Amino acid sequence: MKKKFIIPKDLTFGDLSRELKKYCRAADLEFARSAYDFAAKAHKGQTRLNKEPYIIHPLSSAYILAQMRIDVHIIAAALLHDVPEDTGVTLEEIEKKFGKDIAGIVGGITKLGKLKYRGAERYLENLRKMFVAMAEDIRVMIIKFADRAHNLMTLAPQPPNKQYRIALESLEIYAPIANRLGMGEFKGLLEELSFPYVFPKEFEKTKSMRDNFISGEAPYLEKVIEKAREELNANDIKVLDAHGRKKQLYSLFKKLQQKNWETDKIHDIVAIRIVVPDLNDCYAALGIIHKLWRPLKGRIKDYISQPKPNGYKSLHTTVFCEKGKVVEFQIRTQEMHEEAEYGVSAHWHYDEKGKISKKPAKDIGWAQELAKVQKEVLNKMSDLEELKIDFFQNRIFVFTPNGDVIDLPENGTAVDFAYHIHSEIGNKCSGVRVNDQMVSLDTPLKNGDVVDIIVDQNRKGPNPDWLKFVKTAAARSHIKAAMNAKKRGWLESLLPLGK
Ligand code: MN
Repeated sequence: MKKKFIIPKDLTFGDLSRELKKYCRAADLEFARSAYDFAAKAHKGQTRLNKEPYIIHPLSSAYILAQMRIDVHIIAAALLHDVPEDTGVTLEEIEKKFGKDIAGIVGGITKLGKLKYRGAERYLENLRKMFVAMAEDIRVMIIKFADRAHNLMTLAPQPPNKQYRIALESLEIYAPIANRLGMGEFKGLLEELSFPYVFPKEFEKTKSMRDNFISGEAPYLEKVIEKAREELNANDIKVLDAHGRKKQLYSLFKKLQQKNWETDKIHDIVAIRIVVPDLNDCYAALGIIHKLWRPLKGRIKDYISQPKPNGYKSLHTTVFCEKGKVVEFQIRTQEMHEEAEYGVSAHWHYDEKGKISKKPAKDIGWAQELAKVQKEVLNKMSDLEELKIDFFQNRIFVFTPNGDVIDLPENGTAVDFAYHIHSEIGNKCSGVRVNDQMVSLDTPLKNGDVVDIIVDQNRKGPNPDWLKFVKTAAARSHIKAAMNAKKRGWLESLLPLGK
């Protein structure tokens, strides 16, 4: 776990203020203080299960965000986040004192608040509420992640069934959403905190496996890092940072499951991360690493020219290193690193120079992503179960012959692609060329494929067998709709239905 997320014992506003001073102006600090005073007064006399005064909880949530150098308005809303729900003070009073914007965020969190249902129903209700909240104001989710992280840190006094439920919900809903929004730091934090409560035995097993690996390999990796650094310097590439990054336990666990716990098939338990000043240096550094050590075929990944759908950028390569051992390198700039850690929250994140990393509202890539999610989800509540699957699957990028990018779930097919473009293209699709080769319609597409759909204008409609292999909710529902229409047409030809 990253050390900076350890919250000091008996946290005070002074601790928060020390963090804020690193990137905030004096006026901002005053604003945060008034939010703290207001919340402390409202929660006066309340305690949590661990006997701490209640205010420690919102203060800790704010502290986590301050360590991420998040904008002070979000910090103030985090301090106030439980006031309307748990105290006699209303949202109107918050609006009067702190303005419409802050009250709007706090109101968004209150709306997320209590869940009515249990079991699967609850899961969907929760998911639906999150999507709505995200679509309305992403800042609500940023606070919700910090709130959830602190709840996980203080889960010990809760009864075991509640511990399990909260941790599972964090693993299955909160962490994937953080990931989809590109907030790698929150995703990692939420997973590491939940993992031991959901899979206690597997957690222990994974941890001891990783610890053993690290204690065995650390001296070797140190030497490799030194050698890489020397070689890069000798070629006039400035190395801003070079270090071993441990794979986080929950993602290691998922990979171990995929590979039947054969640890020698996992090459990134510790990967070597190299940070260089700019884009050109990334590619130059990759070339130098490859000159030094031979790369494994098919393991060079250019996430700079083709970022992951959550925005992740880096060059990855796996090489036969000293003594023939296999080592993964990840090469990136500082900016790419911050983007990967903060994702959409970078819009409210202050960098080392005290500047907003990205100006809000200017770069609307993430907003478009949200608008898409909102449209899909809100229009089709009934298909939520399927959309949930769509949303959380790993994504790939493929291209139209004109070079337009289409993102699909992993293993998506030409039929998914066709329906993504237009329902009529899907209904009339009769074949496909992938990278200039004719392949069958059920062939899983791969990242970077160029997909050219062959349309047959005389085709009557989709083949029901397509349902066996399509991966997107859109394709599935179009195929079903076309089948139903066909049935209706057939019935109508037999019976005079209606007029
Ligand atoms: Mn809370």
